[in-house]
Amino acid sequence: MLRKVLIANRGEIALRVLRACRQLGISTVAVHSDVDRDLIHVRLADESVCIGPASSTESYLNIPAIISAAEVTNADAVHPGYGFLSENADFVDMVERSGFVFIGPRGETMRTMGDKISAIRFMREKGIPCLPGSDGALTEDGAVTRRLAKEIGYPVILKASGGGGGRGMRVVYHEADLESAFALTRTEALTAFGNGDIYMEKYLQNPRHIEFQVLGDGTGRAIHLGERDCSLQRRHQKVVEEAPAPGIKPSVRERIGELCARVCSEMEYRGAGTFEFLYENDEFYFIEMNTRIQVEHPVTELVTGVDLVAEQLHIAGGEPLRYKQKDIQLSGHAIECRINAEDPDNFTPSPGTVSQFHPPGGPGVRMDSHLYAGYRVPPNYDSMVGKLIVRGDDRPGAIARMHAALDEMFVEGIKTNLPLHRRIMDDPGFQAGGVTIYHLESMVADAAKLAGE
Ligand code: ADP
Repeated sequence: MLRKVLIANRGEIALRVLRACRQLGISTVAVHSDVDRDLIHVRLADESVCIGPASSTESYLNIPAIISAAEVTNADAVHPGYGFLSENADFVDMVERSGFVFIGPRGETMRTMGDKISAIRFMREKGIPCLPGSDGALTEDGAVTRRLAKEIGYPVILKASGGGGGRGMRVVYHEADLESAFALTRTEALTAFGNGDIYMEKYLQNPRHIEFQVLGDGTGRAIHLGERDCSLQRRHQKVVEEAPAPGIKPSVRERIGELCARVCSEMEYRGAGTFEFLYENDEFYFIEMNTRIQVEHPVTELVTGVDLVAEQLHIAGGEPLRYKQKDIQLSGHAIECRINAEDPDNFTPSPGTVSQFHPPGGPGVRMDSHLYAGYRVPPNYDSMVGKLIVRGDDRPGAIARMHAALDEMFVEGIKTNLPLHRRIMDDPGFQAGGVTIYHLESMVADAAKLAGE
């Protein structure tokens, strides 16, 4: 088992990792930027090291500073959380070369999956269903690109192979726009991701986003833990997630889940991972694999009873996978609302000092948040300040619980998107289940129209 883990992240996920370490008797090292001294996990950790100024590039993305912190505190492993360096293969290699355990997949796995073109090629070869699209990167040959788009059928989407966070994508509806869209996407991709490779795939007009959670121990043992529906998105960013996905038959879950687990087993996948799919007309299409713990992992935890972060730690400690596929039984329904420090009407970030905070509680209610009264949300990072997760015996029960929990929760001093979550829980489309990835945007647009009338 690991002895001392350095948590290379901040906010709620750093606290989540700290909690799992404590329960397993593992010591913790918090690393933080100079505006993050007051983070709750920094106070709770056994040791803490300031690794640089507020700017992420100089702190949470500063590889030498993080490795030095691991050295001076004599940590034996590094947990990257999500975001920041969590999918950076060079970081994995450097952590390992410096003699520490990286809590996550091998660098080589991350290189394949981090590049969307190579990930799709890999998955296609393994028999995972993908969207009709280009085989590899598009070239400067406009005629070839036009022919391909015609074959696939408009609309098509151009995507940066190195893209992430919902950026680096452009939808093309007509051949006349193809050339300029390609040039724009390539320029953006080069500036934002330093990689100008662009590929094309069919743009689906009514998909849901459904993803499968997997765990592998790096020696070929691998399981899946069912799926999550993450269709409620704004600007391609998830806002509400749930497990299981409404309307997915157990036989379909088994078929796709087992396919994902088999691929993980064949590549000797190590750690937690997620296969993301678009789902339309009863078909799944792979879009990407995330080689880390995800923001929405708690909904899977609440319906399977598996502590995914604890399993990451067991796997990194060299233990064989502690669960077999037959041990994973889904029970009940879970929903997560991402709580952001932002204006609920125009979505602009709302950093500042939290004057009052009351996290809701009661049976089946979980709040993963680093907020406390008196804490100042700095303007330098992502606006997510917590996640409210509930479990009910069934979906209506979970919605009712979320409703009550949202009404109980209060955060004062900063604006949050709590009102948006209340509207989502009240929305007839959401209540019916199975909405597409465009539903939330149209809900928000309708509300804005009503307010303007
Ligand atoms: P990122 O790595 O930036 O998250 P993804 O490839 O995972 O990018 O896509 C993010 C979101 O973009 C998806 O959840 C979906 O909403 C939308 N999207 C991506 N590809 C397509 C597509 N081919 N058709 C329709 N929507 C898409």
